[in-house]
Amino acid sequence: MQGIVSPILLLWMLVYPRLSYATWFEDNQGIMGTNIHVELWSDSAQQGENAIQAVMDEMQRINQLMSPYIESSELSQLNSRGSDTAVPVSKELFELIALSVEIAKETDGAFDITFASVGYLYNYREHQKPEPQQIDNLLKAINYRHIKFDINDHSIYFAHPNVKIDLGGIAKGHAVDHAIDILKTLGIKHALVTAGGDTKLLGDRLGKPWMVGIRDPRNKDKQAVVLPLADTALSTSGDYERYFEQDGKRFHHILSPKTGTSVYEVQSVSIIGQRSTLNDALSTAVFVLGVQKGMDLLNRTPGYDGIIVDNQRKLHYSNALVK
Ligand code: ADP
Ligand code: MG
Repeated sequence: MQGIVSPILLLWMLVYPRLSYATWFEDNQGIMGTNIHVELWSDSAQQGENAIQAVMDEMQRINQLMSPYIESSELSQLNSRGSDTAVPVSKELFELIALSVEIAKETDGAFDITFASVGYLYNYREHQKPEPQQIDNLLKAINYRHIKFDINDHSIYFAHPNVKIDLGGIAKGHAVDHAIDILKTLGIKHALVTAGGDTKLLGDRLGKPWMVGIRDPRNKDKQAVVLPLADTALSTSGDYERYFEQDGKRFHHILSPKTGTSVYEVQSVSIIGQRSTLNDALSTAVFVLGVQKGMDLLNRTPGYDGIIVDNQRKLHYSNALVK
């Protein structure tokens, strides 16, 4: 009798604690000027809570490093001194800026972090924008070629007096990649991390795909497209994230580096690919490039696909998505 009961009891003892704790953990926090959303599956309350905390801590760390609004951030320090002297920065910031310059080259300057030389004069919340004269004066400072790198001491120098950089088009994607890497090292197998428009998925949603929506650019309660995804990432850039309207015109946060003003050919761009950092930058780049040049770029970039909602609300898909 005992010989039969004990193995069953043993099995029950092994399985029961798992059944009782295995569950979804979820949290939302406002960090990096946006909503950070984390969902993950864990079979222990301790592991689940630790994992959520680790993601939020990482978001805070990256914000402290890269925020243009925090005076002590490395990015702010570089912006305030980089035109006078070569400023040593952390390897992480150095590499992200170097990657941004690579992407600028690949996108014919559509993605250019020196857009901020003019971009810093916009304040969407306060409905402020630069005068045409101010834009004219600063436009020459927008050029990624002004950014000079010294790999030996990881220092950066701006070869023009008015250069400012901003990583708003790539830092959230970078943060989401980091967050998922951290979750992997903590033993998590199923998770979703979103920072504003940037989402990355670890595994699936327990045997089902994650359903990730691309919102209707003109109605936040409606989805334009819903995609079943697993083990990949998706970023959306839209003209609705930060903007104000004046004289019937929408002044939004994605700027043409050529003109220093908002671009109007499309309403949103979503990019699907493995690396959130690249999705983030590419969504901004394709937004600036518009439908034709944007799709050309995606169709020659292996592993990265896109969906554009143009200014007539028409959907466009890159080749690999319709094959
Ligand atoms: P968000 O997730 O905040 O909507 P996006 O990925 O859509 O971010 O990128 C928009 C942000 O990118 C802007 O808020 C600004 O910080 C930055 N940005 C705007 N225009 C450009 C550009 N031409 N090149 C690089 N970054 C840009
Ligand atoms: Mg982006």
